[in-house]
Amino acid sequence: MYEMCVCSSTGSALVWHVAAKHGSRALCGQQLQASPDPPDAEAAPHCEPCMESFRSLMAEGTALE
Ligand SMILES: [Zn+2]
Repeated sequence: MYEMCVCSSTGSALVWHVAAKHGSRALCGQQLQASPDPPDAEAAPHCEPCMESFRSLMAEGTALE
């Protein structure tokens, strides 16, 4: 299973990453840190490398395992 994780990577910009459930690393390789949901998370863009990896996983049918 995978889940969306909002996380500020470099600097202060928030980005939505995709990570394996309970994983500490996003699909793009970004180290994730547990953080409270920031109030402006809704407006954050999605991480393109993560989304592409996730689409590939979905296409392979492995994302739902
Ligand atoms: Zn990412």
